[in-house]
Amino acid sequence: MVVLEAPAVKVYESPKAKCVKCGAPARIRLSYANAWFCDKHFKEYVKERVKNNIIKYNMVKRGETLLVAVSGGKDSVTLMNVLDEIAPELGVNIVAVHIVLGMGEFSEKSLEAFRDSCSKAKNVKCVTVDLKELLGMYMPEIIRRSRRPACSVCGLVKRYILNAMAVSLGASSIATGHHMNDLMTYAIKNFMEQKLDNITKLGPVSESEGSAVKRVRPLYDIYEDETRAFVKVYGLNYVDIECPFKSTLTLEVIIKDMLSRAESESPSLTISAARALARNLPSYPRPASPPNRCRLCGMPSNGDVCGFCRLTMSLTGAPLGPEVRSRIEGMMSSLRTS
Ligand SMILES: [Zn+2]
Ligand SMILES: [Zn+2]
Repeated sequence: MVVLEAPAVKVYESPKAKCVKCGAPARIRLSYANAWFCDKHFKEYVKERVKNNIIKYNMVKRGETLLVAVSGGKDSVTLMNVLDEIAPELGVNIVAVHIVLGMGEFSEKSLEAFRDSCSKAKNVKCVTVDLKELLGMYMPEIIRRSRRPACSVCGLVKRYILNAMAVSLGASSIATGHHMNDLMTYAIKNFMEQKLDNITKLGPVSESEGSAVKRVRPLYDIYEDETRAFVKVYGLNYVDIECPFKSTLTLEVIIKDMLSRAESESPSLTISAARALARNLPSYPRPASPPNRCRLCGMPSNGDVCGFCRLTMSLTGAPLGPEVRSRIEGMMSSLRTS
């Protein structure tokens, strides 16, 4: 990864200019917006944009429940902090979920960051799910035994748990902390592979193709440099070590790097592209297969039996979908908000 001369957002140790909002000394430089912000107004600026995204893209409505997946990384910690502050204005219930994956130090630090965010939150209810308690084993063992690529197995298990929780809670959507740089990187990769129907899953909202409820990405047009600045300026605890299963030089890494260089040469290129993509997505092809219901557990599935039931059958000899769903039902009963 190259160190860029001009990141989209840079935080200086001491003020260098005046805040565009209030004229106070400012140390946060937003190249893409050609603006300086004081510590207070940078937060206001990020909060406003997240709030606007939630309203504009109809991510969750007044009175509804939003489930937010918090890994403990800088992006989900930023999202949780912002949601905690704007939840009363929006009139929505926020439930934050952290899944303990059992990946050594990475998972310990992730849980620590999540707990820290929970202890500060005023308007977010927190739930921790321990994978071993739920499935009898942690992620490294699941990955080893499944003999499938780590990210695809991990993604499948986490998706299933989040979907089951959303259904149990009666939540209307699931939010993740994906920021614009990652979403645009995946979009470019899918464009290169001409998998245009995959690009529709990378917008601010994707309707429930293969998912129990809609997926929403409130950080859709937030730069990664902004979440990096956010945790730094407001002193939020987050996990800064990479997942031990993440491979280092993938096509994604190369594209992301390329995108940062392009942004550095042409500030606001990424945010303009992301917003244009959001407008144009309705004309993109949509994934073909209408979701079925798994005959074993009742959750959305492409075939007769869902991926999670098939995976757990190969791991333990029995499909764990029905059991996991009933355990989650028990966990959620105390949290139900309606
Ligand atoms: Zn200011
Ligand atoms: Zn199933």
